[in-house]
Amino acid sequence: ATQAYDDQNIFAKILRGEIPATRLYDDDYAIAFPDIAPQAPTHILVIPKGAYVSWDDFSARASDAEIAGFVRAVGTVARDAGLVAPGYRLLANTGHDSHQEVPHLHVHIFAGRALGPMLA
Ligand code: 5GP
Repeated sequence: ATQAYDDQNIFAKILRGEIPATRLYDDDYAIAFPDIAPQAPTHILVIPKGAYVSWDDFSARASDAEIAGFVRAVGTVARDAGLVAPGYRLLANTGHDSHQEVPHLHVHIFAGRALGPMLA
């Protein structure tokens, strides 16, 4: 069974405006903001507005419109940041072994340097 959504998680608070984040993008389905502890010169997080714990939860329960809106938002954020030509990496940690720390689905966008092989 999917873990219950905790509406006190840090990204829920960012969505509600209770803690600050610079909104690089905001539409009906998603927002994007810089990661507070960047692991690459460009490190952006994109999160759906809906209350989903993880990629698993989102892919199982979200509507087609939410899924399409979120996927398009990730692409738009990267495009608008000028990352298409140099290239970028997407990552979504899901569950214990992945080291997911915040229990609201987020896709990391990493860019700004040659990133090297996966899991390096
Ligand atoms: P995870 O390990 O769950 O995939 O990634 C969580 C990410 O959220 C980490 O990269 C961490 O630096 C970032 N993060 C945690 N708290 C905050 C916060 O309050 N604001 C922002 N902008 N990023 C945060």
